[in-house]
Amino acid sequence: MNLILLGPPGAGKGTQAKRLEERHGMLQLATGDMLRAERASGSTLGRQVQAIMDSGQFVSDDIMTALIGSRIDRLAQGAGFVLDGFPRNVPQAEALDAMLAARGMRLDYVIEVTVDEAALVDRIAGRFICAQCGASYHERYNPPRRAGICDLCGSTQLVHRADDRAETVRARLAAYRDQTAPVLPYYRAKGILRAVDGMAEPDRVTQEIERILGFAAGGAHG
Ligand code: AMP
Repeated sequence: MNLILLGPPGAGKGTQAKRLEERHGMLQLATGDMLRAERASGSTLGRQVQAIMDSGQFVSDDIMTALIGSRIDRLAQGAGFVLDGFPRNVPQAEALDAMLAARGMRLDYVIEVTVDEAALVDRIAGRFICAQCGASYHERYNPPRRAGICDLCGSTQLVHRADDRAETVRARLAAYRDQTAPVLPYYRAKGILRAVDGMAEPDRVTQEIERILGFAAGGAHG
């Protein structure tokens, strides 16, 4: 099962992708997490993308398609993936199609996580992430079980993202509206687009996604 979670920043894509990874063994391919890992490691790529990410703009399509292509090449045979943060525009969607076709793979579903834009600013303002594994938390809506400690990997490096400042969030929402939303009709035309209500409780959103994918709720499934 291969799918894309599509939605604006703060919609909960990362939270849902991590759940699908834990519950169904699907691999989360989160381009934002990959870029943040490059930055943390101080690599050339990380230095190259730093300013652009902090301004809320998009990194170039060439860099992004190369990055995602290398991850898809390293997927274990038969492992399903959840793309989170890619594609972000129509050229990336077309490049992804070509990449998958060349490898004899295909997308099963594209799930749009719909949210009310006014809620996003509030969600993002209270958000922090684990610098080690990328898990995402919220001060009020989704705090870690033990304060200051990541539920998933036990790290104490819980930090706010540099691009979660209010000014940058507006630029990221505009980039979503202008460049990413046009990807929706592209997948609708292919008949694989579905939508879930991202304003619902996270557990409910997971159930909705599992229903679309045909997974029994909460059950392990390849
Ligand atoms: P995210 O964690 O998905 O919100 O991504 C954080 C930032 O990484 C974005 O605001 C972009 O600057 C960059 N980025 C992540 N994925 C992509 C992509 N597919 N295309 C272009 N830029 C991306």
